[in-house]
Amino acid sequence: MTYELPQLPYAYDALEPYIDTLTMQIHHTKHHQAYVDNLNKALTPELAAIPSLEELLANVSQFPPAIRNNGGGHYNHSLFWTILSASPQTEPQGNLRGQIEQHWGSVEAFKKAFTQGAMAQFGSGWAWLLVQPDGQLALLATPNQDNPLMDIEGMNRGVPIMGLDVWEHAYYLKHQNRRAEYVDAFWSVLDWARVDERFVAAHRQLLVIAS
Ligand code: MN
Repeated sequence: MTYELPQLPYAYDALEPYIDTLTMQIHHTKHHQAYVDNLNKALTPELAAIPSLEELLANVSQFPPAIRNNGGGHYNHSLFWTILSASPQTEPQGNLRGQIEQHWGSVEAFKKAFTQGAMAQFGSGWAWLLVQPDGQLALLATPNQDNPLMDIEGMNRGVPIMGLDVWEHAYYLKHQNRRAEYVDAFWSVLDWARVDERFVAAHRQLLVIAS
């Protein structure tokens, strides 16, 4: 199989003024496209036969670094685009909200903890909310294009349900060095309805693993 750049579920200017049009265009058509192209270039026939990107990443320690970097880049950006919206559900609801409140005390406290993780990631990387194999939520920050699906030494593994790209290419045109301003803008376009869909799907994936 070869991997393809997914279309955005909205126009490039849809997330204005929080994420600017030019950043979205370059991020999607140049950065994400390059991860897809370089992933396809790095696929051997054996690796191309692996039926899903999730399975490729779950065994990534066995493969060349180009698979880790570009496979991660493709997965991470594909996730990122889908959790953003011009008309987002601005608060988590239901079971997801319950688990967040149980773990962090309140949605506000959760957002503060997630923001701290995003700010503390030195250099390029991602901040994650994931569902661990025990079903519990956890926060994680990873360097480069790593993510919690990967079987990398020391990784707190699980299914990522929310991710924030903190590479400078994600915010430098509008926010320059002010990462905190970008993280703040992210909360205005994060669609909790999409995070909740991933939360429910993650539990199904974990049930399958456990059965
Ligand atoms: Mn990026």
